[in-house]
Amino acid sequence: MTTRSCARALLFPLAAVLVAACGAPAEDELVVYSSRNEPLIKPLFDQYTGETGVAVEFITDSAGPLLQRLEAEGANTPADVLLTVDAGNLWQAAQQGLLQPVSSPALAANVPAHLRDPDNAWYGLSVRARTIVYHADRVSAESLSTYAALAEPQWQGRLCLRTSKKVYNQSLVAMMIAERGEEATEAVVRGWVGNLAAEPFANDTAVLKAIAAGQCDVGIVNTYYYGRLLKEDPELALRLFWPDQDGNGVHVNISGAGVVAAADDTGPAVRLLEWLSSPAAQAQFAASNMEYPVSTAVDVDPLVAAWGDFVGNTINVSQAGALQADAVRLMDRAGYR
Ligand code: FE
Repeated sequence: MTTRSCARALLFPLAAVLVAACGAPAEDELVVYSSRNEPLIKPLFDQYTGETGVAVEFITDSAGPLLQRLEAEGANTPADVLLTVDAGNLWQAAQQGLLQPVSSPALAANVPAHLRDPDNAWYGLSVRARTIVYHADRVSAESLSTYAALAEPQWQGRLCLRTSKKVYNQSLVAMMIAERGEEATEAVVRGWVGNLAAEPFANDTAVLKAIAAGQCDVGIVNTYYYGRLLKEDPELALRLFWPDQDGNGVHVNISGAGVVAAADDTGPAVRLLEWLSSPAAQAQFAASNMEYPVSTAVDVDPLVAAWGDFVGNTINVSQAGALQADAVRLMDRAGYR
């Protein structure tokens, strides 16, 4: 009997095959801790089970609590795979020793190098673009160019941003530090703060709604939030703009996954990640949240493709984690709350 398999039986009592022995070999089932919601992952896991016979049990929560849980459970965690959003969170999990490096030719082939951990502790499975959004009636696309240009005087009192407490913005600023250094980045962030039309908002949807309502004219959001609002209101007078196309490209981040450090047999977990990165699963994985596939062999969902092509930043997304603490301090100094 192993403690890990007993933990599985307690967590998922309906998985009768496990309860029987409380120590049965776990080769025919996997446990995933996921900050991606059930509607996004369950159809894929069901498909995987149908194809392979491997049952995938999962729990969902926010990234922070999942990391705390993995930390607390230590070697006894029932989890095999951590699936979460933002390279900053995945980097943090790896730093805390919660993930283990795995080498897989399939993952290396399917996931571009800048979208995975250089030490192979995690791999991107979808790309999210954090870009500029503007009001079509009050802003012309010609007046937009770069993230940094949103610090210019023409945007005084016209900019809305989400709170700096959100990892998405910490990652954005961390990647800017990687590109241009702290001093130049701080000047940009100070300019943004000076241009704010309102206190930073709790989430991206609130930023979008504030622009739609006329409280401000431009903002920075992940494109899938724009997509969600557009589905609710096809007449939405907001447009996306792809900045930095002559420079480093649009800020991209990932949702991704790694194999939990406590998993003793990594084979089943690696096979699930390989499958999720394969063309067969990639289109659905990305389209379910209106994101972009990491696999370049797969077409972008038509709804998402309608927003246009862009050049994305190719600096390794692990920088979002490595420079996260610097980014948080920088935003604090700049008065970005
Ligand atoms: Fe999100």
